[in-house]
Amino acid sequence: MNYFDNKHIWHPYTKIPSDNPSYLVKSAKGVYLHLENGQNVIDGMSSWWAAIHGYNNEVLNKAVKAQLKNMSHVMFGGITHKPAINLAKTLINITPDNLTKIFFADSGSVSVEVALKIALQFWQSKNKPNKQKFITITSGYHGDTFAAMSVCDPENGMHHLFKGILLKNFFVKSPSLFPTDDAIKDLELTLSKNHHKIAAMILEPIVQGAGGMQIYDSSYLIKARELCDKYNVLLILDEIATGFGRTGELFALQHANIKPDILCLGKAITGGYISFAATMTTTNIANQVGVLMHGPTFMANPLACAVANSSIELLLNTAWQDNVKNIENTLKTELMSLKNHNKVKDVRVLGAIAVVEMKNNVCINTVQKDLINNGVWLRPYNNLIYTMPPFIITNSELLTITRAIKSVINK
Ligand SMILES: *Cc1c(COP(=O)(O)O)cnc(C)c1O
Repeated sequence: MNYFDNKHIWHPYTKIPSDNPSYLVKSAKGVYLHLENGQNVIDGMSSWWAAIHGYNNEVLNKAVKAQLKNMSHVMFGGITHKPAINLAKTLINITPDNLTKIFFADSGSVSVEVALKIALQFWQSKNKPNKQKFITITSGYHGDTFAAMSVCDPENGMHHLFKGILLKNFFVKSPSLFPTDDAIKDLELTLSKNHHKIAAMILEPIVQGAGGMQIYDSSYLIKARELCDKYNVLLILDEIATGFGRTGELFALQHANIKPDILCLGKAITGGYISFAATMTTTNIANQVGVLMHGPTFMANPLACAVANSSIELLLNTAWQDNVKNIENTLKTELMSLKNHNKVKDVRVLGAIAVVEMKNNVCINTVQKDLINNGVWLRPYNNLIYTMPPFIITNSELLTITRAIKSVINK
């Protein structure tokens, strides 16, 4: 434990000093984090979905160094640059063909704020100023800024702390793996009653991340797209966690073959190198919105754009889909049988994601220590032990993760 850190620095969702002191990391390479105390642990979290190529990747390092020689940053007001132009071309190419306009933000939460703002400005300029609310499903997570928080799960999210301040939005039943009929009925009913007040629906397609690590059936997305069209509600897909191959498709929306009106990308967009995100939308919506009232200081940061270009190129030039499929197969073979374990409520696997939902909350301090002693870095929360490893992980490294998970469950 580092005493200065523990005494002065906030970590995500902690108090100062924290009950769970942080581990000091010296460096990272491939799938390994090298701890100050000499231990090397396999990062089963990809630093929260981001480091898909692992750490200290030669190709990405080279892209950052090359850009650093030109410039690390210039303002984006009245100025443009090749890294941003190239990245926009790539993203427009690899996402659904209706998405032609792009806003480069500095974090996922900000890209969600921008998406919500686009939806509000769209209806305002269409003379429908009453369409000011959003609809979403429970167990979602869309970020920690205020508008983003207002569409996070009302219980797992931080709504109780900011009661009366957060926007009041509509929450409908979240869909299950299959069938999704109940959830669709709830959505249709809520939309039919309230659509005149609703600007947009926001969803994490197929996999809900930090709000509960739930996986749901693509039939819900297909139906949600139809209902949004029927009731004149825009559809925002938040692929900040699921984008860039994580679920086995390049984007999770491909499981349902739908096109959103607005798309948010982040996390793995830079291969985990730098905070960065993007919001994309259609020509029609951009034309209707006109002047979009947003402009972060570090908008379209050239270093971030350059490493994003490099990361996407590297991903598309490798057999990422086979790698993710192999990871999925191993995770299923090794973990699915835990469903019968008396301490386990459910096990879910999709692409390079595995979730073991326990019946009881885990003691994070003890479990974290045990995992590290088994050579693995994971960050369980509540009753969830889960992994989303870098795509470059070898089968034997992956087995180290699944063995560690089984070992802490059996303890
Ligand atoms: C992480 C995440 C965000 C927020 O992104 P930040 O970069 O942490 O602001 C939003 N939506 C989803 C689905 C996420 O997983």
